[in-house]
Amino acid sequence: MRFDLITIFPEFFAGPLDHGIVRRARETGLVEVNVQDLRAFTKDRHRTVDDRPFGGGEGMVLKPEPLFEAVESLLGTTAGEASNPGAAVPKTAIVLMSAAGKLFRQETARRYAQLERIIFICGRYEGVDERVAEHLATEEISIGDFVLSGGELPAMMVVDAVTRLLPGALGNEASSQNESFSVVDNPGPDTSQQSRVTSQILLDFPHYTRPAEYRGWPVPEVLIGGNHAEVAKWRRAASIEKTRRNRPDLLPRE
Ligand code: SAH
Repeated sequence: MRFDLITIFPEFFAGPLDHGIVRRARETGLVEVNVQDLRAFTKDRHRTVDDRPFGGGEGMVLKPEPLFEAVESLLGTTAGEASNPGAAVPKTAIVLMSAAGKLFRQETARRYAQLERIIFICGRYEGVDERVAEHLATEEISIGDFVLSGGELPAMMVVDAVTRLLPGALGNEASSQNESFSVVDNPGPDTSQQSRVTSQILLDFPHYTRPAEYRGWPVPEVLIGGNHAEVAKWRRAASIEKTRRNRPDLLPRE
């Protein structure tokens, strides 16, 4: 998998790319990350990437030309081709980070993990000239219902979420099969009210480690007993309970 990050702050990524699973995936060659300075694609002496908005209002807007040229240079295409559906590069997404985009979810991460290349466009200021969303990006993605000051953190979050889904990224110590937002089969009989649903999305079950009692708070007895069937049952019930408490919107309506 190759990630390209187009940004006016290339140094921003130094820390986040150099730790944990993402770092290891880069070192083993599972992912290649290329950070591209947007200013390298400007042609004027001041290396201008932004300009005032047509129609007035405060703030600055990222200009289209350097963004189109950056993407086209990465893809090796000429002007206009990058976004032409007929000429779409297979297994490649051009993702514009945007508070006004479609919500990024775990299922988006799973879809991206099937691609070979993702080019991220990180906005700044008031945002990006809309022609980038219309004619260059293949997707416009938001990481949540809040506004940040730039697309760098959002892009990094997507890089992280996708990298850890690539086979071999997690090693043996962890698995992406059985965690929050993975799709679990609904076992049926004792969940009659959900019997119409064949699978559902739940949050992860609570985890505990030693000591078995801390400040008078004991670990649930069943987890210490060693009965695997009982543990599995408890974990499933605890998952449902936690989802009901924190994210009732994920559960099927009763
Ligand atoms: N005027 C815009 C916000 C611009 S914030 C609006 O109201 O929607 C500047 C940049 O930060 C955006 O161009 C985008 O790249 C990034 N950004 C901010 N919030 C984001 C979010 N929730 N998800 C993804 N990118 C975001």
